[in-house]
Amino acid sequence: CKSEGGNGIRTFEPEMLASRKKRTESEDDIRRGIEESLFEPHFQSVTHLASGNIVGFEALMRLNHPEKGLIPPAEFIAIAEESDRIDLAGRQLFSKALSGLRALGQRHGDEHLHIAINLSPVELTPEKIAFIASELEVYGVDPAQLTVEITEAVFLEDSDRITECLQQLRHIGCKIALDDFGTGYSSLAYLTRFQVDIIKIDQSFIKGLTHPDPAIATRSRRLIEGIAAIATNMDCLMIAEGVEEEEQARHLRTIGVQYAQGFLFSTPLPLSEAMALV
Ligand code: C2E
Ligand code: CA
Ligand code: CA
Ligand code: CA
Repeated sequence: CKSEGGNGIRTFEPEMLASRKKRTESEDDIRRGIEESLFEPHFQSVTHLASGNIVGFEALMRLNHPEKGLIPPAEFIAIAEESDRIDLAGRQLFSKALSGLRALGQRHGDEHLHIAINLSPVELTPEKIAFIASELEVYGVDPAQLTVEITEAVFLEDSDRITECLQQLRHIGCKIALDDFGTGYSSLAYLTRFQVDIIKIDQSFIKGLTHPDPAIATRSRRLIEGIAAIATNMDCLMIAEGVEEEEQARHLRTIGVQYAQGFLFSTPLPLSEAMALV
């Protein structure tokens, strides 16, 4: 956010100063969040489309600031990813998500509710996997109940670290989901390198199903049918993201997409409110 003057001297314009100030403020919020354990999960239900049953939840990170209230990930994840802060915030989120899962499971009378968490590429380290394994034990959660969601962005760097971490997660029994499938500008070749368990169909494709232009709606449906064919051939289950309308859910059932998430079913909720869903 610097502009170069002709003489090479950097000049700052008012909006740059404002954005720098905002950034510094975000960094302060993140630091405080880590020190005071202000990062917490909100739980969005995952629904089995054929039965309408809730099979689990995705834990989505919020920074619960004492003065500013809930701060959404869009305002801090990218900044936190530049340092190890995303890892520390993610650890807080994970422990709280597991404790929440236990409460939800007890209430649901089902010990096999699933929980999904999101990991940024920088969070895929052997230390983090060891932390995940040990927390699963501490909270008495079966690794098979945990899904780790990653985006295609992790494959932009073709590193052994990423592949080994993902293999390690599967080895301990966790599931791997590919988030925002089809939006990551990366080659599909990664699908040949190891087994993914779940493909999450990005919300942009789901929106297309009910696009006012019927040609776009038709092409969206065909595209999702194509994704479903790939997922089925690769032994992956599918979760549709961002389902807001019953008509979208109907199309998805017809195509054979097994699970869905979205405002049609529930927004992400604090634990106390998620408890009312199960
Ligand atoms: P994501 O993993 O793709 O999460 C889905 C986002 O879509 C969430 O935004 C969710 O609130 C929103 N959403 C769910 N259903 C609907 C719907 O029907 N309509 C619309 N318009 N939106 C819907 P959120 O919670 O703001 O999270 C944004 C992103 O932040 C996530 O995208 C994920 O990439 C990242 N994120 C969230 N929690 C964590 C975390 O604990 N760690 C890391 N590394 N990233 C996280
Ligand atoms: Ca996700
Ligand atoms: Ca997503
Ligand atoms: Ca996303």
